[in-house]
Amino acid sequence: MKKKLVIIGGGVSGLTAGIYAQKNGFKSMVIEKHNIPGGELTGWYRDGNYIDGCIHWLMGTKKGTEMRSVWEEIGAIDDDNIIKMDYFTVFKSHLGDITIWRDTKKFKEELLQKAQEDKKAINEFIRYINESKTLEIPAKKRLSERNFFELISFGIPLIPAAVAHGKAGKYSLFEFSKKFKNPLLVNFFNSIFSPDHNLYSFCVALGSFMDGNADIPKGGSLDMAQRIARKYQSLGGKLVLNTNVDKANIKDNKIVSFLATNLKTKEEIEIDDFDYAIFSCDADVAYHKILDNKYNDPIFEARFNDSKRYPILSCCLVSFAVDTDMSKYPHSVMVETKPFMVGKTKQHKISFRNYYYYKNKSGKTTLISMVTQNGESYDYWKKLYDEDNKKYHDEKMKVADLFKAEYLKLFPELEGKIEFLDMTTPLTYEHYLNAFKGGYISFKKTKNTKWKSHHGAIDGLKNALISGQWTQIPGGAPPAATSGKFSIADLKKIVKKDK
Ligand SMILES: Cc1cc2nc3c(=O)[nH]c(=O)nc-3n(C[C@H](O)[C@H](O)[C@H](O)COP(=O)(O)OP(=O)(O)OC[C@H]3O[C@@H](n4cnc5c(N)ncnc54)[C@H](O)[C@@H]3O)c2cc1C
Repeated sequence: MKKKLVIIGGGVSGLTAGIYAQKNGFKSMVIEKHNIPGGELTGWYRDGNYIDGCIHWLMGTKKGTEMRSVWEEIGAIDDDNIIKMDYFTVFKSHLGDITIWRDTKKFKEELLQKAQEDKKAINEFIRYINESKTLEIPAKKRLSERNFFELISFGIPLIPAAVAHGKAGKYSLFEFSKKFKNPLLVNFFNSIFSPDHNLYSFCVALGSFMDGNADIPKGGSLDMAQRIARKYQSLGGKLVLNTNVDKANIKDNKIVSFLATNLKTKEEIEIDDFDYAIFSCDADVAYHKILDNKYNDPIFEARFNDSKRYPILSCCLVSFAVDTDMSKYPHSVMVETKPFMVGKTKQHKISFRNYYYYKNKSGKTTLISMVTQNGESYDYWKKLYDEDNKKYHDEKMKVADLFKAEYLKLFPELEGKIEFLDMTTPLTYEHYLNAFKGGYISFKKTKNTKWKSHHGAIDGLKNALISGQWTQIPGGAPPAATSGKFSIADLKKIVKKDK
């Protein structure tokens, strides 16, 4: 008889776990709180305009890589649904512009043209990018599951990336900027991401893009999520939406049932037709709410309780619809601005995506600015929301007006053609998805962060595992998917032992 599996959370991780469960002979069911599957891999519509709520760059799109095979196996992408851009973004400042080209040589030439005096530091930066291109996401199986020969054949090509990690990983972008004399380049490194962003992470992002291994899924995050969910259902998986799992009933170190709420009818339901469970929701929800703090994990507790060493990145998304042909403008821009505050986070730039490559029913083009928010900002938005909903709304509108004014400074010809659509705060992702503090890639990688994956077991529980972005640092869609896949390999071992 097939073993029955319940998966809590229908994001990338939960759906991937479901797909591999079905492929490996389990009878699975995914319980999802939201009214659509996908979790943070999402998007929505306002007045006929699509707002992408997630993917900027999806790693693992290069053919022949382990990650690409997983994306294909779960139906997320194939050759026909990837958009490859010529450049990553255009950085604009009062000192000049820098385009981050896909062609590394072209990018290097552009930097040298702007700052011959920084030839040595530019060469160092480009070397780290080239070395980082060799990084591959382990997606076939956990590294700890590979034998000596498998480790060698996977590991040897990665040596340059490991060298870059050892060297570039020591710098924040701010520290690395000190190697440059040219003010435009100093400014570039300090403004492109947050100054404490790790240089190696930056090089990995650029290296993956330049190597053809980080692109945009066609149809955006919402279509990608729907493709994965369809794949799960086509394999016989059962997807239950609008259902929040509240509490686990545990007997003899085994979960015997879950109490859940149907969010449409408000009815309480008991889910007990399963042998095993995987928590693919936020780790905070799993340990602190559903398991009621009884199985807290020291690895997670150390991370949840040390926000300096393990900061959580959340964001606001400010969206506009523009009633003109935007294809002549860059698809991604980062513009240096005078400092301003969003929540409690000081901003020095505005970055936006111009989605001219999606066809909105309204005929207009969506522009979206993503603004990162720190832990203090989360507290700020939460306090506003809890104490005075009107103030929360007014504050959002203030931010929206500020962005609109910046867009018009940059493109005065858009006057009268640009209208506000929507603004999310970290609370939006918390409300819809239970995302811990609205976090979008789990813990952030900084210079002081220990970069280690969680093993996926829940100490003390015999029939439950945990997967999802929070089990990795940093998270993101690829680690969410691989952790879901790996949890099924782990589960198969548990089933074998239980026999
Ligand atoms: C704005 C934004 C931009 C991003 N950009 C990128 C990018 O460019 N590239 C990239 O790789 N990644 C990006 N990410 C991150 C990526 O989307 C996430 O890392 C990934 O989708 C997380 O997947 P997950 O399944 O681990 O978690 P989630 O997506 O959080 O899924 C967990 C699911 O569990 C459900 N759930 C929670 N509690 C319960 C409960 N009690 N009962 C039932 N269900 C529950 C939630 O509703 C949710 O659907 C971005 C995220 C955001 C928000």
